[in-house]
Amino acid sequence: MNKTSSSLAKALLAQTDLINSTNGFMPFHEGEALAESLFNLGLNSAMPAVEIGSYQGLSTIFLGLAAKMTDRALIALDHHRGSEENQAGWQFHDSSLVEQVSNRMDTLYLFRRTIDLADLEKTVVIVVAESSAFARLYPGEIAYLFIDGGHARDIAHSDYDNWAPKLAEGGVMAIHDVFMNISEGGRAPYELYLRALSDNFVELRSEGSLRIMQKAP
Ligand code: MG
Repeated sequence: MNKTSSSLAKALLAQTDLINSTNGFMPFHEGEALAESLFNLGLNSAMPAVEIGSYQGLSTIFLGLAAKMTDRALIALDHHRGSEENQAGWQFHDSSLVEQVSNRMDTLYLFRRTIDLADLEKTVVIVVAESSAFARLYPGEIAYLFIDGGHARDIAHSDYDNWAPKLAEGGVMAIHDVFMNISEGGRAPYELYLRALSDNFVELRSEGSLRIMQKAP
């Protein structure tokens, strides 16, 4: 481990309590790999990183710390209404997240709390929107893309269609929940991974269900 990545490891360690108390679906070793991939990115720090699918902010802590330490903005994009698998009747539903007036899920206030507790309010730009709607408004290049939004096939593929082309050459894309075996989880993230490999992405690292790839320069 070089000196700079040991400072990242130290910063992550300092957030252990918050990481352990934040609800989400990312084991520490995957979060650490995610953070390292953003931390080690060589591209101009004026270009932001984009996270699609923030939920309550667990993965955002990892990415946010790496972004903060490298002076890069992290756009955290989520409609905060929960993905398909978070809705009532599905495996990952948490009924305490249903807002009483709309009777719909609302994870925004919990997400904001996480960002505040992690001291990342100056790094993380919170965008509450459909990923496709925001993609239309966002013409610029991005340096880093983390796809962890809805895992339904149409949604996952549209996240790739809308955002992968915005990645600068040499930029890095991470995809979460890549399972080759359908018994472990949905197939769509794996399909995105295959698409990326057949486009111009090169795999850098695999950690659990996380795949980290670089857009060939
Ligand atoms: Mg995930």
